[in-house]
Amino acid sequence: MIFSNKYIDYTTKSKRELYETLLLFKLLSNSHLVYIGKYLLKFSIKIKLPISNLIKKTIFKHFCGGENIIESQKKIRELGKHNIKTILDYSVEGQNHVNNLEQVYQEIMNNLDVAQNNTLIPFCVFKITGISRFELLTKISAKIPLNTQENNELKILKNRLNKICSKAQEVNKPILIDAEESWIQNAIDDLVEALMIRFNKKTVLVYNTIQFYRWDKLKYMKKLHETGKSRNFKIGVKIVRGAYMEKERFRAQQKNYKSPIHKDKLACDHDFNKASKYCLDHLNDISVCFGTHNEQSTKYILELMQKYNIDNSDKRIYFSQLLGMSDNISFYLAHFNYNVAKYVPYGPVKYVIPYLIRRAEENSSIGSQTDGEIKRIKQAIKNN
Ligand SMILES: Cc1cc2nc3c(=O)[nH]c(=O)nc-3n(C[C@H](O)[C@H](O)[C@H](O)COP(=O)(O)OP(=O)(O)OC[C@H]3O[C@@H](n4cnc5c(N)ncnc54)[C@H](O)[C@@H]3O)c2cc1C
Repeated sequence: MIFSNKYIDYTTKSKRELYETLLLFKLLSNSHLVYIGKYLLKFSIKIKLPISNLIKKTIFKHFCGGENIIESQKKIRELGKHNIKTILDYSVEGQNHVNNLEQVYQEIMNNLDVAQNNTLIPFCVFKITGISRFELLTKISAKIPLNTQENNELKILKNRLNKICSKAQEVNKPILIDAEESWIQNAIDDLVEALMIRFNKKTVLVYNTIQFYRWDKLKYMKKLHETGKSRNFKIGVKIVRGAYMEKERFRAQQKNYKSPIHKDKLACDHDFNKASKYCLDHLNDISVCFGTHNEQSTKYILELMQKYNIDNSDKRIYFSQLLGMSDNISFYLAHFNYNVAKYVPYGPVKYVIPYLIRRAEENSSIGSQTDGEIKRIKQAIKNN
């Protein structure tokens, strides 16, 4: 397999740290433990048990840059030494109060300021639910008429989005907008498309995220491309498989509608690869960021790039993995001069919990990359 750990730099890690990482992945590979741990964690936070320090020294340390941007700088520099860029991700989720939404908005603007002066940060990223109420997006997606107060909220959201993108344009840093649950995604897609129309005239500033665990999204991407051609704007997409599969299936079953998720992994992989090829086939109109830890898909994309004679460092193509996962892919890509960036989540420990739970679930799921991670760490311990 091309993505061995040959190019990973383990020299910054002590043997003790490697053993800690090994233990962490071993625990995460146990789905029963993760299932129970998830509820214990939520409960402990709810009753205000002082466990933040414990979390910070374990799972947080592995998957996050720090509690704020200053703390995350060390990670940014470390990755930068290896030609790996950073996408700072303020991972505070599920905060519906107006003050919190304003605070996240300010943090995104702050992120753009930090990115402006740092060549190691090629993009900024955010979730629309960081700056808007979830229920508002649910209502818009379901095409339920909004009341006066909700119309006002929508106005505030659009205003924030326009200000973020104007600033991104000013500091010349493209914006990635994450994909979320299917029942709010229509609203997100429409909002982001409006931003693309306004800001992607000459170059690609705004990237939407498309989840290919959904069976309707290949068609959606092609339609978006057609709209871009007819309305004269360029397309930016982050291609992912999707992070909310269990939740999606559960809701569809509960509410008795057809699940938006593919019937199996094979169908999901098939669409992900087809979408990847589609982007590379239309690079004049589409810039793409491949957000994946899947080795087969990454290998397939590299083979296509070679076949099409696309330069490894073509500015229209980025690869991205999450901090703490699949370093073998990130370091390999960086070594061969592909554009690669790690998502580096940060934020106060207690607010980053939903993100950490998703990482734990992902690593404990069947067919995850965790066994590979464990093998690589064992190998590194042997060589250390
Ligand atoms: C840089 C980056 C950014 C990301 N941004 C987002 C984002 O904005 N929104 C978001 O939702 N996710 C996001 N993700 C997470 C991503 O969607 C996946 O959950 C994660 O990367 C695992 O998928 P994979 O491609 O790495 O590969 P794999 O490990 O090969 O695939 C696992 C994924 O396949 C899919 N899958 C598994 N089993 C089945 C099945 N039976 N039927 C159908 N599908 C199945 C699921 O999506 C699962 O997460 C991001 C990931 C990265 C690396």
